[in-house]
Amino acid sequence: MNEEKFYKLKENFKNRNIEVNWFETLGEVKSYILNIVPVDCNIGIGHSATLQKMGITNSLLGRGNIVYDKEIGKNREESKILKKKALLAEWYISGSNAVTVDGRIINVDHSGNRVAAISYGPDNVIIVVGINKITDTVEEGIKRVKNIACPLNAKRAGYNPPCVELNKCIDCASKERVCNILSIIEGQSEENRIKLCIVNEMCGF
Ligand code: SF4
Repeated sequence: MNEEKFYKLKENFKNRNIEVNWFETLGEVKSYILNIVPVDCNIGIGHSATLQKMGITNSLLGRGNIVYDKEIGKNREESKILKKKALLAEWYISGSNAVTVDGRIINVDHSGNRVAAISYGPDNVIIVVGINKITDTVEEGIKRVKNIACPLNAKRAGYNPPCVELNKCIDCASKERVCNILSIIEGQSEENRIKLCIVNEMCGF
């Protein structure tokens, strides 16, 4: 993404009360997060290949934060409790499926915990995305989510909707469907509650 496009994106999000910051590497984003998130608070984590690559959960746990990340649950029941606790954490850190230059954040969820927390839960939300998640419009963003992110996420999580084999969305009504909830954040009532971190790397899917 060139500089002109980034500043256009940043301005569009600013008008919607969402702060945008640019980082060259995931390591820089991690330092930023560890700097602005207090050491004495609790944090919910929205499952994300980008955050896993960053290793943010272990770093936060290692310095004494309480972290609600479903990945550290020992079984399905524990993971479910962690997802619920994350909804009312003081901070929430997540990836996203697509971000548009005109100022929208697009996510699809299987169960809805992540979109619920981002929409109305923690008072402070940090969203980390690589440049591969940037699209020009909502239509392109949804197309990206359904045809790229969903098949890969379904495969990773062990579900088998039609897109896994076909590598494209056929708008299925399968019980294995992974995109049960589609969320488009178009703005925020509280200024800078959401901080969007864009990293100049290809991250997640
Ligand atoms: S609607 Fe079905 S086929 Fe389309 S992305 Fe979702 S799970 Fe895959």
